[in-house]
Amino acid sequence: MSGDVVVRISGLRKAYGDNEVLRGVDLDLHQGEVIVIFGRSGSGKSTLLRCVNFLEDPTEGTVEIAGQRLSGGHRTRRKREQIRQVRIHVGMVFQQFNLFPHLTTLDNVMSGPLALGRRGGDDRASIRRRSLELLDGVGLADKADEHPIRLSGGQQQRVAIARALAMEPEVMLFDEPTSALDPELTGEVLGVMKRLALDLHMPMMVVTHEMGFAREVADRMAFFHEGVILEQGTPEELFTRTRHQETRTFLDAVL
Ligand code: ADP
Ligand code: MG
Repeated sequence: MSGDVVVRISGLRKAYGDNEVLRGVDLDLHQGEVIVIFGRSGSGKSTLLRCVNFLEDPTEGTVEIAGQRLSGGHRTRRKREQIRQVRIHVGMVFQQFNLFPHLTTLDNVMSGPLALGRRGGDDRASIRRRSLELLDGVGLADKADEHPIRLSGGQQQRVAIARALAMEPEVMLFDEPTSALDPELTGEVLGVMKRLALDLHMPMMVVTHEMGFAREVADRMAFFHEGVILEQGTPEELFTRTRHQETRTFLDAVL
């Protein structure tokens, strides 16, 4: 892959039986870039992210990420090793926070690096120190010993972000990270994501309908429609010079 491309999606297709969910997607994510993906429910946004993270195998086309190149077909031993590599180097945050309920927030953040540590990584004390720094970074140092159930949804999602960052990912994927939250809690999560993008220059693919966030943070926006990227451009281009009626209609509905 050329120089600063972190994720390259080429000719990606995904079908579930007769249902063609992705119908030819090409997209490059560059170093330090934030792409916001938006579009109607059912248009294939989550499926795209799941293919990027190798949670799904594409029917056709390829995804290149974290030094791995995944294409369709069944899961060979080599492919399973590729998937393991991608899981280590790609952070993902979902709509549902998916924290381990039986672990404290600190143990949640430490869990990934500790699992790797068994294969010979950092020692426990340094993982703990780093995890506390990450919790501090999302404003939750004082919640280290709480269990997730004691936290608000916004706090839980910030822990989920810290947990993903503990693996020192090359790229972060967010799938509607605020859509399960009460409106007054979305700001704190978007704030953490914004700092990740603007201060740490983390490359990110973000599925969201938070257009304020998109306007402020996205380098590029991609409108997803029936399994293809119908239109993409800078926020300025999409908000003011929309080329497709479908995009306009959708934006008018969410703005
Ligand atoms: P979005 O995230 O844009 O709402 P999805 O990617 O979740 O869209 O879903 C796109 C389409 O793919 C939907 O029609 C959905 O029913 C279908 N789909 C998603 N995952 C699966 C699956 N595991 N098996 C069968 N169909 C699926
Ligand atoms: Mg979805």
